[in-house]
Amino acid sequence: MIKKVFSLLLTMFVFAGLTAQSFGTSTGSRPANSGSGHQQGTQTVQEKAALNPGAPQGQTSPTMTPEERELARKQMASQGQKPAPRQHTPEEIAARNAQREQRIKGDTSHRKDKHFDDAGFEQFKRAFINTLWKTYPGWASSVGFHRLDSVLTVPDAQAMANEKAVLDKLQLKLKQFSFDTLSPFNKADYRMIENFIANQKFQLNEFKSFEWNPSNYNVGGNIDDALSYKQISLDKRLQNIVDKLSKVPAYFEAAKQNIKNPTKEHTELAIAQNKGSLYIFKTVLPDSLAKSTLSEADKTTFKAKLKTAHQAVENFISYLEKTVLPTAKRDFRIGSALYEKKFALDINSAYTAAQMLEKATARKTVLHEEMGKIADSLWVQYKGTAAKPTSNLEKIKAIIDTLSSKHCKREDFLNTIERQLPELTAFVNQKQILKLDPSKPLKVRVTPGYMDGVAGASLSSPGPYDENGTSWYNVTPLNSYSAAEAESYLREYNDWVLQILNIHEAIPGHYVQAVYSNASPDLVKAILGNGATIEGWACYVERMMIEQGYKSSPEMRLFYYKWNLREVCNFILDYHVHCNKWTEAQVTDLLVNEAFQQTTEAKEKYQRATLSQVQLTSYFTGLTEIYELREDIRKKQGAAFNLKKFHEEFLSFGSAPVKEIAPLMFTPKPKAVANQQGQNRGGQNRPQGQGGNRPTSNGPGNADAIQNQPGKK
Ligand code: ZN
Ligand code: ZN
Repeated sequence: MIKKVFSLLLTMFVFAGLTAQSFGTSTGSRPANSGSGHQQGTQTVQEKAALNPGAPQGQTSPTMTPEERELARKQMASQGQKPAPRQHTPEEIAARNAQREQRIKGDTSHRKDKHFDDAGFEQFKRAFINTLWKTYPGWASSVGFHRLDSVLTVPDAQAMANEKAVLDKLQLKLKQFSFDTLSPFNKADYRMIENFIANQKFQLNEFKSFEWNPSNYNVGGNIDDALSYKQISLDKRLQNIVDKLSKVPAYFEAAKQNIKNPTKEHTELAIAQNKGSLYIFKTVLPDSLAKSTLSEADKTTFKAKLKTAHQAVENFISYLEKTVLPTAKRDFRIGSALYEKKFALDINSAYTAAQMLEKATARKTVLHEEMGKIADSLWVQYKGTAAKPTSNLEKIKAIIDTLSSKHCKREDFLNTIERQLPELTAFVNQKQILKLDPSKPLKVRVTPGYMDGVAGASLSSPGPYDENGTSWYNVTPLNSYSAAEAESYLREYNDWVLQILNIHEAIPGHYVQAVYSNASPDLVKAILGNGATIEGWACYVERMMIEQGYKSSPEMRLFYYKWNLREVCNFILDYHVHCNKWTEAQVTDLLVNEAFQQTTEAKEKYQRATLSQVQLTSYFTGLTEIYELREDIRKKQGAAFNLKKFHEEFLSFGSAPVKEIAPLMFTPKPKAVANQQGQNRGGQNRPQGQGGNRPTSNGPGNADAIQNQPGKK
């Protein structure tokens, strides 16, 4: 029900040309439309215990039910609690004794600070995640960790100082580990944690979107995350929420203090989104309260706090409208210096943004040449004796226009998708692309009501705390479209593009990547998952499947190239808008004339670029890096190269950045770590506003908010 509000809102933004990706809040709510966040399954007691590493061993959590606590205690007791201590060599013991002596003498200059084993690092990772959730409780709720659902962090100076201190401390702890002695999997984690800390510091000290992006402030998603977690009783959920509600006035007071010289675009977004959240205060919470069995006294308290919180949201909206908006004039463009820094931290590529721009521009030329050749080869078949335009781009456009009329009937949309999935599975098996796990099937369903705003097809993967969750392929029947809208939609998702979409979203794209990621026990890779790896994989498999000859035809290749052009042009336009002051007209010219898109798509894409920075580059960058990595390895291995092995090895690193995976590919893995691979857990949906107390702008995980909107790529 509540999700519906957000979906409706989302619809509104999609139609307004805005994006789900900017929908996060400073309270760490997930992006409205990201599939992964929706599927929050039951945590087992063991998981809960395991996920509370900061607690002294043998302790249970205060948020567990008595039964859970008892069970956890029993399990911990039966497991003997502490892992067996590692056997130390005589040299180590001698060194430690020497250190002890030094310490007693008060001389620590010779102390050996480095840890040399993965066990210590595993412990650090657990503590790291525990610290993350304490620092960013909203982010915790949004990924399915529901033990801090009563917390709403007020984004004031104190909270920011606290966050900085936490990050400094984590950085120090991380530096105590010797990178070289870690296993390949932990090496990747080490780099991801290092990058995460650097990124958060950049956000706090340099990027400072908490000053200029008022849409960072919105409590709707945070309350929704707590209310929609059905594993907790309604009464308990409302008790959690009343704690949040009492913080809402201070929350918006702090927001007002933080906002300085914002952009008009982000101010308008903040107004629209906070207005959308009002529904929660006016309708959803009163309805839920009525259904609860709380005492009359508790209900009275709840109503009073709700009223004050509601008023605080209204006041914030009118403050934005009357005081902030009239003078909001900061340029939304971040400029090339900040852009390069954000690109380095969010995308985490081996290349700079400027280097990738060169690659994108070169690829565009290649694609135009290839598409031109295909258009020539198809001309007579589809155009007969019609005169061929002299312009290459016009010729391609003419062929695309003609071919686009071949699409399924609107009433067959769902069936068509459903029918294509077994074909993809068969091809992947027959061509030995990679191993598919038949025990984790992808289920197709009509998009649930709470995701109403999501058009077409989207994927919902289980989150990092939901090991046994189902992967759903949501398909929205085109019932609500007018005839013209349906026709336009179906022309875009014609007979060829629909198959590419299924490759991207499902097999062997996002769905398969998530299953592999879910097979790893590594929460760090799941939580800090790199958006360029996630999107890059889905884009890489499109290209790979075409190369392998899937439904091989000139038409298929032509439409794959069109789809690839979109990835390429996303990069080009985002870079130029932010670094070279490109206007809407320049973006439209690129997308309509060089990428064969519709004017409405171009308008939406421009608006998305005004609200996000760098995220649009994740598709092409991830694709390019994975592709180059494959070609490098193919050259090195020569005849021994095996595509299936390459894919499986790559996916075993979860959603780590490609540049961190690259040096670890096919390196020997310690047995213990290699074994863990089989158990993996995943979900790679990092909400962008992960600050429990502070907005960050789009983190890497934003990619996932977009990836589920086929039309939004
Ligand atoms: Zn995607
Ligand atoms: Zn997806």
